[in-house]
Amino acid sequence: MSHSNEPVRSVKGMNDVLPADAPLWQRVEAISHEVLSSFGFREIRTNILEPTRLFSRSVGEATDIVEKEMYTFSDRSGESLTLRPEGTAGVVRAYIEHKLHTEDRISKLWYLGPMYRHERPQRGRFRQFHQVGAEILGGAEPAIDVTIIALVDTLLERLGIRKKVSLEISTLGDMESRIAFRAAIQNHFRPLIGGFCADCQRRIDTNPLRILDCKVDMDKTGGAPSGLDFLNDPSRRHFETVKHGLASAGVRHIINPRIVRGLDYYCHTVFEFVSQELGAQGTVAAGGRYDGLVEELGGPPTPGMGFAAGIERLVDLARTAGFTADEPGPAVFLVSVGEKARHETQRLALALCREGIPAGIDYGAKSLKSQMRYADRLKAKYVAVLGDSELESGKTRLKLMSDGTEREIRLDNLAVELRKG
Ligand code: ATP
Ligand code: MG
Repeated sequence: MSHSNEPVRSVKGMNDVLPADAPLWQRVEAISHEVLSSFGFREIRTNILEPTRLFSRSVGEATDIVEKEMYTFSDRSGESLTLRPEGTAGVVRAYIEHKLHTEDRISKLWYLGPMYRHERPQRGRFRQFHQVGAEILGGAEPAIDVTIIALVDTLLERLGIRKKVSLEISTLGDMESRIAFRAAIQNHFRPLIGGFCADCQRRIDTNPLRILDCKVDMDKTGGAPSGLDFLNDPSRRHFETVKHGLASAGVRHIINPRIVRGLDYYCHTVFEFVSQELGAQGTVAAGGRYDGLVEELGGPPTPGMGFAAGIERLVDLARTAGFTADEPGPAVFLVSVGEKARHETQRLALALCREGIPAGIDYGAKSLKSQMRYADRLKAKYVAVLGDSELESGKTRLKLMSDGTEREIRLDNLAVELRKG
């Protein structure tokens, strides 16, 4: 055993959210919750740890996530487990396991929580990060694609960052169209692939569409075939209806046939909300349709459509857009002069806290001046001083710190007065 006084540090690429940042996170989370509820989604909380094969079957063997990004280990009984790298697989597993498909034809589910990927940490890219996401399971209608996209549009609007982000959409079409597109991509890149990164050299056989999404070879993929040229009639109609739905809902978007998404089971509509401000980490939210996934995971044939947004990237953008949330200070800070008053302020502060009114005190026996400084630092809205004469008269002066005005109040009326604001 090596003995060391070195403090233990957090795992590389995993960040604590400190108290000064928590209010902004809480506000982003609260707005997400509100928007999701108003669109009729219900929350689902799935496990962070899942059997490894859940992700190899859903995300796909030939994806970056499964090939090299997962935190996978054997537990004490030798079962291979993985910290979830994304949310959809767990939601679909739970949907099948708990037979949610027997409740209604359409299930609208949302989730929020930590995800884990062993990537190279940089701005906007971490090894532990958080996603808020939603899935609509059970319907293949283009109106569902429009709903998911309009929901993300609304969320970004409410966070004040919609103008910083462009919506790029495309379609992979149904299975037939996708197979034709995949073959065309292979044919196009096969003669060029020697000049591409090692990942792309693998992808040409395993997941050729993903070449279009490569962060290394971005500038070498111009002139590649567009998926839009391989759509059969039903696939083209689906896409036309989605575009029309977006336009009539006032959701600004551009068509970018290079949007393919890395996951195996995407079909039809795929989309990304991209910011120019975050560099190669520009995608804040992304999603698409995955009609084969539920069946692939052993459930009944069930179409699906969903999105996931990275909370760190949302918070980053919202902050630079001037979106703030302050740490709330106490409603009142009780300053005491003398031993007797100190006990009384402790009793009063506790009573106020128990009634839901945040009240602060200094626990130590400090000078009046140092208590006042502390009240200031905590940004208390009101300050009241209690000494022997206040205890005797049962009255004190409530001082509003923003303008210094005071009003006399009875101590036994403190809660009532503070509730007036
Ligand atoms: P990228 O192309 O940036 O690697 P991705 O296609 O792997 O993203 P998804 O799996 O679609 O990302 O995840 C949806 C969203 O989750 C992303 O748009 C991003 O906002 C966020 N996200 C993904 N990976 C990370 C990460 N390592 N750190 C922080 N946020 C992430
Ligand atoms: Mg990635």
